[in-house]
Amino acid sequence: MLSLRNLVKVYPGPVTALRGVDLEVPRGMFGLLGPNGAGKSTLMKILSGLLEPTSGEVTLDGMDLVRHPEALRPHLGYLPQEFGFYPYLSGQDMLRYLLELKGVTAPQGLKALVAQLLERVNLTFAAKRKVKEYSGGMRQRLGIAQALAGNPKLIIVDEPTAGLDPEERQRFYRLLAEIAHERTVLLSTHIVEDVAMLCPRFAVIRQGRVVAITSPSEAKAALHDTLFEGTVPPADMAPFQQAWRVTQAVLFEGRNRVRIHLPRGAPPPPGFERTTPTLEDAYLLLMKDAPEPTAPAVAQAPGQAPGQAPGQAPAVGA
Ligand code: ADP
Repeated sequence: MLSLRNLVKVYPGPVTALRGVDLEVPRGMFGLLGPNGAGKSTLMKILSGLLEPTSGEVTLDGMDLVRHPEALRPHLGYLPQEFGFYPYLSGQDMLRYLLELKGVTAPQGLKALVAQLLERVNLTFAAKRKVKEYSGGMRQRLGIAQALAGNPKLIIVDEPTAGLDPEERQRFYRLLAEIAHERTVLLSTHIVEDVAMLCPRFAVIRQGRVVAITSPSEAKAALHDTLFEGTVPPADMAPFQQAWRVTQAVLFEGRNRVRIHLPRGAPPPPGFERTTPTLEDAYLLLMKDAPEPTAPAVAQAPGQAPGQAPGQAPAVGA
């Protein structure tokens, strides 16, 4: 079990990136979902020992990772957002190099371990190909291979599906689901679909604070009978958004298909029909409803405003 207690990170500036995060992460896949700038990468870097928190506690099965980051290393695998590859090395040489850097030793020898890991992530066929010829998905799988070395208890994966095409994404999801059987995999993402597909439980983080800990089915069930969908002419969109709680507005065949949230039992506007809530609805409502952080008040850096999901109405979000 990974436990975070009142974790705070203030960068010079000062920018408060984490405002007291409490979280218990069990075995299996656990999602950390939040918009850009929410503090996910900061949290991931602290967990992987790359960054010290300003205050707070992190323990893995009782081990104190803030005071003894070196104790963590053998138990941790990390796939960062930006993964440095040497494009001219073959996949197997690259992996071997990464294992050497990490100080991994193998009773059966590194060569055998490399072969085993490549097999585990379905890259044996490309072992001798240069990494520059790998697709985005193959590179991510090579990243997972190095994270798996040493059979760590905890694997941290930071925004892994950005830039993958739908097919690569599916393969990568399957691999993540497989490796999460035996350990804790913490998946940080701003993509609701990643969480919907993979995570039996997840936390939503916004402006450095955990604003919900739930499961995809719980989050959707909580909205049962409260979501309605209809069409709004483009010219009426602005006043409509003022009047109703819009969760999503998607252009469909040139018309605005709009989803709104109503208190249970309240009548919808004419032409709107009850619809099945999605995790995206639940997430966007959480982003609307979560209280604004109080002190220490620190302005969001330009360009770091919380991101909007595709199809999200301009009024929705932070
Ligand atoms: P996310 O990964 O959810 O996009 P980050 O952890 O990268 O969020 O950022 C959280 C906040 O901390 C943002 O406001 C960001 O601008 C700020 N931040 C991140 N890294 C630094 C840094 N090295 N120095 C100052 N501010 C930073």
